[in-house]
Amino acid sequence: MLDVVRLDSRYGRIPALAGVDLRVAAGELVALVGANGAGKTTLLRAISGVQPASGGEIRFDGRDLARLSARRRVQLGIVQVPEGRQVFGPLSVEDNLLLGAFARGSRDGLEHVLAMFPALERKRREPAGTLSGGQQQMLAIGRALMANPKLLLLDEPSMGLAPRLVAEIFAQIAGLKAQGTTILLVDQNARAALAIADRGYVMETGRVVLSGPAADLLRDPQVRQAYLGL
Ligand code: ATP
Repeated sequence: MLDVVRLDSRYGRIPALAGVDLRVAAGELVALVGANGAGKTTLLRAISGVQPASGGEIRFDGRDLARLSARRRVQLGIVQVPEGRQVFGPLSVEDNLLLGAFARGSRDGLEHVLAMFPALERKRREPAGTLSGGQQQMLAIGRALMANPKLLLLDEPSMGLAPRLVAEIFAQIAGLKAQGTTILLVDQNARAALAIADRGYVMETGRVVLSGPAADLLRDPQVRQAYLGL
């Protein structure tokens, strides 16, 4: 479904991605792990079209994305849940969800998404800013689901959450995969991310340094030492 080939991206003169190759097949859950500043967020943003690429290619369902705007990519089914949730605090939970469907121009799916997240259903008329961190993360995911994603890009969904909520969020993500959503997941919690993933990629300073089945990465001595604290 997604084929990233020798992708480069830079912030001014500073390279952030250097020759990144990454693939995600339909139905897969792929985890992307690595230290702060490795380039994970930049890669997700390049795929969704909010960060320009300076070289290489991104193909989605065989189609070159280079000339397509971020909005067009959302319409094709590439939908990002940004780091830090970025919900619209003064707007209601329901309006935040409806904004997720803006590029699609339809409210269809609202009741389905609310049914997936009972905590959001209970608070559908409340301002999103009054939700807890975990609920805001669910709202950010729900908002993305409203866009009808084929490929969901999740950036640090467990950031800043208490351990119980981290487990809940990862269970929700595993549930989305089980329902057939294709997912590229970035998370500092490498162990939890790899535990639910089919395959994984490890990034260091703008490059992919290791990739393989998630179970193999969880056993890899280098990964265990550098990213799993073992
Ligand atoms: P984190 O987990 O901290 O978000 P990351 O792996 O997602 O890390 P990126 O945020 O993609 O890494 O950053 C990759 C590199 O690009 C880092 O060296 C970072 O300092 C730099 N960078 C990121 N955003 C900008 C920006 N807006 N302007 C300049 N440099 C940036």
